[in-house]
Amino acid sequence: MDFKYDDEAEALRTKIREFVKANIPPDIALGLFADEHFQDDWDFSMKIAKKLSETGWLTMAWPKEHSGMGASVWERCVFGEEIGYWGIPGGGMGVSGTAWVGPSLMLFGTEAQMNKYLPMIASGSDDGIWCTGYSEPDSGSDLASLQTRAERVGDEYIINGQKVWNSAGHHARWCWLACRTDPNAKRKHDGISVMMVDMKSPGVTVRPIPNLFGAHIFNEIFFKDVRVPAENLVGKENNGWAQLMQALAFERGISLGSSSTAQRILDEMVQYAKETGAIKKAEIRMKLADLATDIRTLRILALEAAWKAAKGELVIYEPSRDKSYNDEILEKMGQLGTEIIGAYSQVDPLVRKTKYKRLSGMMEWNYWSTAGMWNAAGTTDTNRNIVAQFKLGLPRGY
Ligand SMILES: Cc1cc2nc3c(=O)[nH]c(=O)nc-3n(C[C@H](O)[C@H](O)[C@H](O)COP(=O)(O)OP(=O)(O)OC[C@H]3O[C@@H](n4cnc5c(N)ncnc54)[C@H](O)[C@@H]3O)c2cc1C
Repeated sequence: MDFKYDDEAEALRTKIREFVKANIPPDIALGLFADEHFQDDWDFSMKIAKKLSETGWLTMAWPKEHSGMGASVWERCVFGEEIGYWGIPGGGMGVSGTAWVGPSLMLFGTEAQMNKYLPMIASGSDDGIWCTGYSEPDSGSDLASLQTRAERVGDEYIINGQKVWNSAGHHARWCWLACRTDPNAKRKHDGISVMMVDMKSPGVTVRPIPNLFGAHIFNEIFFKDVRVPAENLVGKENNGWAQLMQALAFERGISLGSSSTAQRILDEMVQYAKETGAIKKAEIRMKLADLATDIRTLRILALEAAWKAAKGELVIYEPSRDKSYNDEILEKMGQLGTEIIGAYSQVDPLVRKTKYKRLSGMMEWNYWSTAGMWNAAGTTDTNRNIVAQFKLGLPRGY
């Protein structure tokens, strides 16, 4: 395996760093999903999304004929690393637009759907913001048991049901919705479809769910007789399960950015520990070194997955491997960060203007947020099950 980036990728890195200097405050807080809670942050993210759209970077991975740049795997890796390290916000278009709605549409969508939705996402405008509607109150890890019903009536589907934990649902214009189109299918996996729902449709209600420290990141969404044009069905009716598995693989395959975000937070911690003298404690030094080793390992794993993809090999279990490893790193980082800033970590993460904040408040914010990361994008256990089955060839235990 060759770890070197090619010249094009390194040239892109230089350009991105110029962009960072001009547009991103050096003390930007790297708080997980914080912009979904703070309106000022969200506005800033959308401003940056627009600028990323103008440079073409917002959807650089997409082919040129679909509002993209046809960037190489290595250019995408550099972009992911730089976004993660410098905290460049706005790259997601909600939590799904660029990463899995667009790529899934290119695999399963019709020409008309691609022509309508891909430019909307690539434009960086409010109309290109998406949320994802998979989980339900009684359907999480066992996603195939979902009950939200889409019934075909003429040239429309009528949708009834409830989704939950929908990140950015309060900002989204569109919902990427998993629903049941055939309640009588023999296998529960066989009666599912993917639908694109306009969040402004009559019958859609979004209610906030405050997370464990009161931040408004996710929501519950209720669908009451919501009429969706049949042309908004993605792919084939009842083929949703295969499409969802592909979309989830796109969702989990983002660990290079995660490792560089972790690296930046670690660098901030080391700096702070040096300035305050916390570094004098052997225990702190060892924990920092332990974390540095983990982060470097995650980066190498993520690069290995990229290397395989660049060779045209299928990447199957690797995103799950990296996602579950990243969950562990996030937890360690949350704990060590609060240990290093000590009593300042007791500041309410939602309070921004106080003299007691340290490191822009990102240590306490991330400490509280990481608990949820074991669940987001499929739980750590679910992802480990995938590694057990597809990497180790172990029998399914579920
Ligand atoms: C920050 C955050 C953002 C999220 N955003 C979204 C979103 O935008 N859209 C959306 O649809 N959902 C979202 N979710 C929901 C997330 O996908 C679910 O929480 C997740 O799928 C788990 O489902 P559950 O919470 O119902 O837990 P359950 O499935 O009930 O799991 C409970 C526990 O049992 C374990 N478990 C379950 N089954 C197995 C098994 N077979 N083997 C081993 N262990 C098992 C799990 O690992 C977990 O520890 C988000 C969650 C979080 C925390």
